[in-house]
Amino acid sequence: MTPSPLRLLLDTAALQHNWRTLAAMSGRAACGAAVKADGYGLGAREVATRLAEAGCRDFFVSNWREAEHLAPLGLQLSVLHGVRDEDMPAALAGFARPVLNTPEQVERWRVGGGRACDVMVDTGMNRLGLSVTDVEAGALDGLEIETLMSHLACAEEPVEMNRRQRDALAGLAGRTNARRMSLANSAGIALGPDYHFDLTRPGLALYGGVPRPDMGARLRQVVRPQAQVLQRRRVPAGDSLGYNATWRAPRDTEVAILNIGYADGYLRAFSDRGSIEWEGSTLPVIGRVSMDLIAVDASIAPGLREGDWVAIAFDLPGQSAASGLSQYELLTGLGARYDRLWS
Ligand SMILES: *Cc1c(COP(=O)(O)O)cnc(C)c1O
Repeated sequence: MTPSPLRLLLDTAALQHNWRTLAAMSGRAACGAAVKADGYGLGAREVATRLAEAGCRDFFVSNWREAEHLAPLGLQLSVLHGVRDEDMPAALAGFARPVLNTPEQVERWRVGGGRACDVMVDTGMNRLGLSVTDVEAGALDGLEIETLMSHLACAEEPVEMNRRQRDALAGLAGRTNARRMSLANSAGIALGPDYHFDLTRPGLALYGGVPRPDMGARLRQVVRPQAQVLQRRRVPAGDSLGYNATWRAPRDTEVAILNIGYADGYLRAFSDRGSIEWEGSTLPVIGRVSMDLIAVDASIAPGLREGDWVAIAFDLPGQSAASGLSQYELLTGLGARYDRLWS
């Protein structure tokens, strides 16, 4: 197959380092991995295989399609969105556990004869999960539960809501048959031992995202997009460049045109905001990001030529600040056109 003119360099050692770091930060608790949304855009199978090799045992996906994709790996999978009627055949096949979220799902699982499951309890986020009141009233009595979990709404912020959510989950200890309890996502791990329970569930930080500045020094960048120069040109002073002529050359300007655009997840938010690296120089994106192309000011890189590969700046906290996109959006938006190359 023809090599793609776009590639993601994916760093196995950095991914495994990040998991080991989060596992160490999780103390006595086991450390799992959220690999939903195709492993946050990196490729769920490749990510899960490497994390399993590092010692990870608990993997979380969103739905049964995603679980089926990973089933051949033989890992312990949990499906965060629970079970619909149409999921029951897959759910009863036993290659993953549903995370039951509603009284209807609990009933469906009981009637269908399902065995071990996980359960999500809502402790204040008001997204998915049974209410604490329902659990206290016995909604889960008799159910074979592996993990009773909840999810933090604001783990990356120092707000009092974290403590309230933590206390609400802790209050259910012993109220069900659950073998384990779980609360913390990536940022929640940094909230300390009170938040670790028996199992943590990081996603973002595994992939090099930094949910809290104090975690930045300990995590390594995993994803490095690269694109190629399609054309180099000189834009005369006063000429415009790109769609809607939003950029105008203040002087004669050397420009390189690269084959990456918003169809590759490099969204228009990077117009006049993104940058690339080439042989130690940082070249700014100028003008509007197109579907398949961007332009950079190459004035300080006289040696940059048609066909050269360049690195798209993709340190997640920095590029999130530059673009206004979340680190999660930067990862999960990475499109299908990249060759994903694991080192
Ligand atoms: C996505 C998700 C996680 C992982 O969250 P990060 O912020 O990416 O670490 C953990 N638990 C649940 C329920 C999730 O949906």
